[in-house]
Amino acid sequence: MNGRPPVRMCARCQCTTSEPVLVHEVHAATGPGFNVYACPECAHHYPPMTDALQLLEALPRRSRLTLRVYKLNAQGAVTEDRGEIEILAGSHPAPAPHTSPAGHPSTQNQ
Ligand SMILES: [Zn+2]
Repeated sequence: MNGRPPVRMCARCQCTTSEPVLVHEVHAATGPGFNVYACPECAHHYPPMTDALQLLEALPRRSRLTLRVYKLNAQGAVTEDRGEIEILAGSHPAPAPHTSPAGHPSTQNQ
C-alpha cells in the first residue's frame, strides 16, 4: 500500500485516530453492519452500548417447527389427522440450517 496507517474517526470525540479501537459492532438485519471505532483514549471511557438487536442476539433463539401429521389409506383419503404439532426447540442455540428456495423443487409444483 502507500504506507499510511488506517485512520478512523473516533465516535466519541470526533477526532481522527491512526490507532482505532473497535468499541461497537452494529448489526443490521437487512444489510451489512458497520463498526464503530474510538481512539485509544476514548476507548477506555466508552460506555458499553446495548441496542435491541444485540439483546435479541444474546437471547437463545427459539426456533419453531410446525409439522402436519396425517395418514392416508389406499384410496388416498385422509383417515387420521392429528392436526398441527408445534415443536419448540429453544434449549440449545443450534443454528438453523440455511436452505435456498431453489433447492426445494417440490414447492414449485403446481
Ligand atoms: Zn476519542
